[in-house]
Amino acid sequence: MPITHKKMRKIWISVLLQSSILLQAQSPDSIWKRSQKKFEQQDYLGVVEDMNMLIRKNSAYANAFYNRGIARLNLGDLENACNDLQTAQSKGADENQRFIGYLCNQEMIRDLLIKQNYNKQQVFPEQGYRPKYTRADTLRGALRPERTCFDVYFYDLNVKIIPKGRKILGSNSIFFHVLQPCKTIQIDLFENYSVTGIIWNVITLPYKREFNALFIEFPLELKAGENQVIQITYKGKPLNAPNPPWDGGFVWKKDQNNDLWLGVACEHLGASSWWPNKDHLSDKTDSMLIHLQVPRGYQAISNGNLRQVKAAGKKFDQFSWFVSYPINNYNVTFYVGRYVSFSDTLVQGPDTTRFDYNVLNYNLETAREHFKQTRDVIGFYNRAFGIYPFQHDGFGLVESPYEGMEHQSAIAYGNGYNRMTNSDDNEYRNQIYDYIIVHEAAHEWWGNSVTAADMADIWIHEGFATYAELMFLEDRFGKDEYMYELADKSQYILNIWPMVQNRNVNENTFASNDVYNKGAMMLHCFRCSVNNDSLFYALIRAFSLKYRYQTLTSIDFISFVNHYTGKDFSDFFNKYLYDTRLPVLSYTYQHSNGVLTMRYRWTDVEAGFSMPFSIATDKKESFRLEGTASWQEIRLPETSWFNFYNLFTGHQGCPNNAFTYYHTLCENPE
Ligand SMILES: [Zn+2]
Repeated sequence: MPITHKKMRKIWISVLLQSSILLQAQSPDSIWKRSQKKFEQQDYLGVVEDMNMLIRKNSAYANAFYNRGIARLNLGDLENACNDLQTAQSKGADENQRFIGYLCNQEMIRDLLIKQNYNKQQVFPEQGYRPKYTRADTLRGALRPERTCFDVYFYDLNVKIIPKGRKILGSNSIFFHVLQPCKTIQIDLFENYSVTGIIWNVITLPYKREFNALFIEFPLELKAGENQVIQITYKGKPLNAPNPPWDGGFVWKKDQNNDLWLGVACEHLGASSWWPNKDHLSDKTDSMLIHLQVPRGYQAISNGNLRQVKAAGKKFDQFSWFVSYPINNYNVTFYVGRYVSFSDTLVQGPDTTRFDYNVLNYNLETAREHFKQTRDVIGFYNRAFGIYPFQHDGFGLVESPYEGMEHQSAIAYGNGYNRMTNSDDNEYRNQIYDYIIVHEAAHEWWGNSVTAADMADIWIHEGFATYAELMFLEDRFGKDEYMYELADKSQYILNIWPMVQNRNVNENTFASNDVYNKGAMMLHCFRCSVNNDSLFYALIRAFSLKYRYQTLTSIDFISFVNHYTGKDFSDFFNKYLYDTRLPVLSYTYQHSNGVLTMRYRWTDVEAGFSMPFSIATDKKESFRLEGTASWQEIRLPETSWFNFYNLFTGHQGCPNNAFTYYHTLCENPE
């Protein structure tokens, strides 16, 4: 799924701009002038010392607290910066109220996010500011015995899409292996559909419905090792998507010629919003047939390869598509419209990747030109993550009536072909590559092939896809472009909810976008810790290949890393995945005999946590330091001060593999 538009951007930009302003201290002129100069040189420790001096003289200096807060913010000490800024406010410095409010008031950010994501639901502090989980959430998100007793290996889905009245009629044959003896199984289908029959071996099976779950009862116990098939027929009116793809459902649109243009996007909402299936990420079918009946004159595009088109009655045609690989339920999709197709191939050594493009007829020439960039994108991912996982199905883009979605081998593209004039927040600085193509294509490896087993682990889809974008940009334009986009994305990390949230409840893990930006930042920090780019690239590729077509949890990923590197990164990943608080770099410094000694260690972390960081000095030297949970020191001869590379001061000049994401805390006495 693409990231939602970065609504917080404007406020953040004002935070960063405002942080370059010092207020005139009501104080002896010399100290004020000196600190102003120190601030311009980025000697923030010096500014803090000067302001300490003023505050010792007269603690009523509101502007001295303000300035110390701004200096501490630049040092990355958010906690003390906020204390200072709020003190300044209470003492009457009425500058930049909004900036202080936004920076220091987590509740305000949380309220904004809650409004954006849970506007129809009540949230509760004891639930970590999320809605209370219901029986319906558990039925959808948990792996009960009625689900773990079987494994789906094939779906044969038929759906008739009837635009008049916005209805569908469907049937799905579900082929499964019985894993545990069972008499009842759970299949999911939203309650706005009526089930017209469930057939097993010519017998009609009874079922009980609970919310969106159907508990289907067999007349006798199914035995482990058997293969079984049931067919469910159903009909009803699908939900309209309020804000696709993020708030999903059916999209009924007209194209610019007033012809029908339809689609569906249902990640997180669930594929059971339009067809009956075992709706849990942990079970991907091995292959699938999708038959779509649509009004004559229109094309119906779906995943995989088109096998057959035939008439279905007087007014409809049936398009039959076959997916020859494992596929997530939410990736199963359709597009209906006046489509035309074209294709391309990319040869790399022994491998040929086929590209299938379906676009609205009036956009054919524009798309032919615009989609040429896909060769660069897929060419890179093939090299970085292993050859495209769905070779026989081809790589596909389909023009969609919503912005984008990683529908396997038929990715939704709805970004308007307008890369050169796009003012979209999500586009790259280079303005050459289209964000939707780069991001959604990455999902073919991260999400579609390597799949999270629970919504709690969805960062594996979004964090890796976002990081893949950065790797691609680095490959095309070099490290500076990579660092620029990384630093840009890091400004949107909000740290309100942990990246990995509650399991077994179909959690809305997308809510704060941290699974994208913080996920990518965590992988970058991990790369810095490995400090060996070729080993890091090899690890990412090996991980992609090991879990190809499979599902996994965050724990599986951490185990893989530990095994591959021979080093225990558990405390590192646990910090970023499960804790909303960042690692804190505690430090002291002291001048003695012309030597500046800095001592440092990570706090708020488990004993095994380690991560590099970097400092710059007034001598224009920079150092990459390996922090751990124990005190270490660096001695800097003939040095007056140092400063950190961080989110606030930027990455320019930072040594390789040392620009990491953390807060700081100076432990010198004031
Ligand atoms: Zn995505």
